[in-house]
Amino acid sequence: MTSEVQHANSDVSHHDVIVVGAGFAGLYTLHRLRGLGFNVRVVEAGSDVGGTWYWNRYPGARCDVESLEYSYSFSDQLQQEWVWPERFSAQPDILRYIQHVADRFDLRRHIEFDSRVESAEFDEGRDEWTVTTGKRRQLKARFCIMATGNLSLPRVPDFPGLEDFKGKWYHSGLWPHEKVDFTGQRVGLIGTGASGIQITPNVAKEAAHLYVFQRTANYSVPSVNRPTDEKEMQGYKARYAEIRRSQKNSAYGIAGFEVPTLSAIEVDAETRARTYEEKWGLGGNISFLAAYNDILLNKASNETACQFVREKIKSIVKDPETAELLCPKDHYIGTKRLPLEIDYFATFNRDNVTLVDVRNYPVKRITKDGILTKKQAYELDAIIFATGFDAMTGALLDINVKGLGGKTLQSKWAGGPLTYLGLMTAGFPNFFIMTGPGAPSVKTNMIPHIEQHADWITDCIDYLSRNKHVRMEADAKREQEWVKHVDDVANATLYPLAESWYVGANIPGKPRFFMPYIGGLDKYTKLCNAVAANGYDGFHIR
Ligand code: FAD
Ligand code: NAP
Repeated sequence: MTSEVQHANSDVSHHDVIVVGAGFAGLYTLHRLRGLGFNVRVVEAGSDVGGTWYWNRYPGARCDVESLEYSYSFSDQLQQEWVWPERFSAQPDILRYIQHVADRFDLRRHIEFDSRVESAEFDEGRDEWTVTTGKRRQLKARFCIMATGNLSLPRVPDFPGLEDFKGKWYHSGLWPHEKVDFTGQRVGLIGTGASGIQITPNVAKEAAHLYVFQRTANYSVPSVNRPTDEKEMQGYKARYAEIRRSQKNSAYGIAGFEVPTLSAIEVDAETRARTYEEKWGLGGNISFLAAYNDILLNKASNETACQFVREKIKSIVKDPETAELLCPKDHYIGTKRLPLEIDYFATFNRDNVTLVDVRNYPVKRITKDGILTKKQAYELDAIIFATGFDAMTGALLDINVKGLGGKTLQSKWAGGPLTYLGLMTAGFPNFFIMTGPGAPSVKTNMIPHIEQHADWITDCIDYLSRNKHVRMEADAKREQEWVKHVDDVANATLYPLAESWYVGANIPGKPRFFMPYIGGLDKYTKLCNAVAANGYDGFHIR
């Protein structure tokens, strides 16, 4: 292992491993590598740790996996000490937790903040990566780990005229650090995905008027959020070891997940309605979608769940025309991420909230005074873009990555992202990808998955270093087989039918490619472990 070399007046430093990103993934990877004795440098574009929870500070931002499970398991002391205030904690509390982890494990001194990585190039002669930041700093290391996040490149649609707008505009994923006060303002919100659904009720409480511009109506189920019950939390903490084991052995990274055994269409309508009602009352998206074993497999079964949610929307929203417009009809429930709502549908009963149909009357342009649709002009003081991300591949392809023979990742992935186990891509040795395409990533509770990826990758780097191996690369044929497997698993479900960001449909021109592996975290972990136990089967090592 090298010792850190950085000359006073030089902007080149040498390390064993470079990690890009200081969110949940980058931080735990750093902690683990440092524990193994490596010299590690983390490079982060933001000014602090937190990743998703550093950037997405919009009103209402919170997790949709229960906090007691959406948290690290690697330190029992940490999980015993930490107190989560709510069942689904809000962004400031999650960020406070990540900041606490950075301080408690003394991680910050290994991180360079305010540094965006622009390129990463492999030197074949030296078996070494050179990473260059926007500040023209160079970092060199044998191994490079991309912990760049899969929902970390925000996307503002290409509406003409945005530069003319006199008011202020915001993106959910680039929210200012100071509080944005919408009191007395006319606000336009574009986007009704999970972010838009969380923002709507909160901004509606402040704004003089909120216009929600909806292109595609979305399903949403209640979160049933509540303050954490002290007794429940103590019960959890007493059983944490067992809970964490159960998480890692489940498809969704969620403990106690009961695999459903019944089909939605095998039971009678009354039983079905009772089951959905019970799930609706309990809150949570996975619990709702797992009411039956074929909701994501069978169109007729799925339609029973769609119908239930549409009826709920109609029972909440008083104006029948608005209710009808809010009822999703163009995709199967769960085939796009199913957001959790807190008063989202009820907010459309307020006098100061208007739902605007931009499916039939699309946005034509932004003007100096607001938004012009095909139907009419809306005068606005502020615009919020809750228009999502270039998901899964965006942050990776935003970096100019060059592997063997100078081949770029952009050219290799021009037809879609190719990986072996989501961990590596052939032709890019010693280059690891965390929770990206080809891995369960967004189709599971991300924290146990991040820990699984970090453990696997750091164990692998430790193995290579101890055995004096200088290069590891995915086999191209095994990569093709894995990509096909990921696709086959997806094609056995209803997921690929939706125009979702899982297939890149939200980005004009992005190749349609089902990106996450939906075979389950449990299965995936076993596969990765077997590959490692088999001498890193499917990888070339030298
Ligand atoms: P991120 O948190 O995205 O961190 C990546 C970091 O890399 C960022 O800080 C970014 O600045 C940095 N970076 C990227 N490119 C560069 C570059 N070129 N140079 C330098 N730095 C770079 N998942 C769940 O399982 N449950 C949830 O409830 C949940 N809620 C979410 C809510 C929101 C609003 C969003 C957007 C996502 C949510 N997710 C959720 C997914 C969430 O992204 C993950 O749970 C997790 O936080 C990802 O951690 P990460 O470290 O892998 O990536
Ligand atoms: P998203 O799901 O991609 O939603 C983007 C929204 O913007 C969609 O309603 C989309 O409409 C709309 N939109 C995009 N371009 C448009 C255009 N040109 N004109 C009109 N409308 C346009 O993004 P997101 O809501 O930020 O969520 C992304 C992911 O982050 C989620 O799926 C989830 O995984 C995660 N997240 C989680 C939580 C949580 O609860 N924990 C909260 C926020 C985000 P179309 O559908 O018609 O494209």
